[in-house]
Amino acid sequence: MAPWHCELTRAHPFDFNSFMTKTVSLHLKRADLIVSHNFIAGNWQASLEPDQPLMPVTDPSDASLITHVADSGAVDALAAVDAAQSAFSDWKSRPAKERATVIKRWNDLIVSHKEDLGKLISREQGKPLAEGEGEVLYAASYVEWFGEQATRSNGEIIPTPANNKRLMAIREPVGVVAVITPWNFPAAMIARKIAPALAAGCTVVAKPAEDTPLTALALAKLAQEAGLPPGVLNIVTTSRTRAAQVVDVWLADDRVRKISFTGSTPVGKHLAKESASTLKKISLELGGNAPFIVFEDADIDAAVEGLMVAKFRNGGQTCVCPNRVYVQTLVHDEFVQKLAVRVAALKVGPARELDSQIGPMINARAVEKIERHVQDAVAKGAKVVTGGHRIQRAESPQAAYFSPTVLTEATPDMVCACEETFGPVVPVTRFDTEAEVVGQANDTPFGLAAYFYSQNPARIWRVMEALECGIVGINEGALAAEAAPFGGVKESGYGREGSVYGLDDYQHIKYFCQGGLG
Ligand code: NAP
Repeated sequence: MAPWHCELTRAHPFDFNSFMTKTVSLHLKRADLIVSHNFIAGNWQASLEPDQPLMPVTDPSDASLITHVADSGAVDALAAVDAAQSAFSDWKSRPAKERATVIKRWNDLIVSHKEDLGKLISREQGKPLAEGEGEVLYAASYVEWFGEQATRSNGEIIPTPANNKRLMAIREPVGVVAVITPWNFPAAMIARKIAPALAAGCTVVAKPAEDTPLTALALAKLAQEAGLPPGVLNIVTTSRTRAAQVVDVWLADDRVRKISFTGSTPVGKHLAKESASTLKKISLELGGNAPFIVFEDADIDAAVEGLMVAKFRNGGQTCVCPNRVYVQTLVHDEFVQKLAVRVAALKVGPARELDSQIGPMINARAVEKIERHVQDAVAKGAKVVTGGHRIQRAESPQAAYFSPTVLTEATPDMVCACEETFGPVVPVTRFDTEAEVVGQANDTPFGLAAYFYSQNPARIWRVMEALECGIVGINEGALAAEAAPFGGVKESGYGREGSVYGLDDYQHIKYFCQGGLG
């Protein structure tokens, strides 16, 4: 039986899109995990803007209404900073072990609510249910990791240049952190920022994406239950049209000492520019344009498998998704033929159908972009091996589904080679030499992830070192792990999330010198 049921209701009384005539009940064990209010200073509250605006949250598989949340503005953004600033001195001065205990309790609650949170993610974001639950555990892994790292944030005693002095360096939290996250991983993106911030002793104001605010609010509810003191974490939801109003307040406020952003490169550049006036610390996890290279000495079956994992998770809406696939001439046809069989067999459908492997794209804009990329490629000579079109489902004509697609004869002048398609499309380009393909792989302003398959040890080291990116998958398609540093180079941003490096971005180093000892 489908895990959710839908009930027809009247259209919402507010002036929202006219097609929103259904509301959806999620059968959660904890119905109270669906929250509609902002979380500020430990209180769940409506927007403080005079007209208390709301925005709808919808299911991308059928555009049905899930609920409404606050469409916040500048007043809410400021209230969140006030709360975070008030909570900062107490939170930072708590022993690391005490902060760690709260964070680890939060992890336990996330894990024990993985089914509910997984349903919520799948419903508001569209990914298949198994992926929704998988994302919950992935998010929790960062919370657990940074709960542990909180107690290992050591300082240093520096060899003294004079016997009457001692030199030391310690780590301190930077202060209030503004966290801004995208819709594609509604739990993981926000958890892997909030957890290190809390572990470091920072307090947080966070704005989840317009399309997926509910998971962030549910996580905040569990953080509250874990014992996080009021004001340490504050969540403000807002629509795309008001996002800049909220974030501009945080950019201008000199009490906000850090911006941690995951999203597109243009917005990241804007944040970097605007935060300069108060010289905030800033971490940017931005867009990618990942190459995936298959050399003729690769295990072809493993390469096909790796590409399926790397490309089709989350319907291709992942920053580290291979966006350009290069296959050496000798193995090109075998690879394409095996890949096409696997891709054509993918089941496209809503998360509530438990065998779905590719859900709807997040919204109409997303599917229009994918269609534009495919049409551009075909107009410039690409061949469609499988897929290549929208999928219209009778029960949900508004839904944004796109068929899993393989294109061949892709060339560098195609839009899909230059921009992230962010959908289930694999453009394949044939190549002859290692030097040629490394040049093409690096011929992009982006540098997040890259993948290659080869069984030649010398080539593996050569190519790994030559690729201009922050993350390299060698004979492997699944790269992310809480213990690994995640982040890019070039216009894919700076800063690292996860790993032993992940706390650094939320801390500064204080050096102190004690004299008069001789
Ligand atoms: P986006 O448009 O940049 O949005 C990301 C966040 O920024 C959202 O919360 C968005 O709010 C907010 N935002 C948008 N315009 C803003 C503005 N003018 N001022 C302040 N905030 C603003 O990116 P997206 O389309 O949601 O996400 C997809 C992108 O994220 C892709 O490029 C993907 O590669 C990248 N990404 C990178 C990583 C990584 O780790 N490197 C991970 C995941 C995704 P609204 O939702 O209200 O617009």
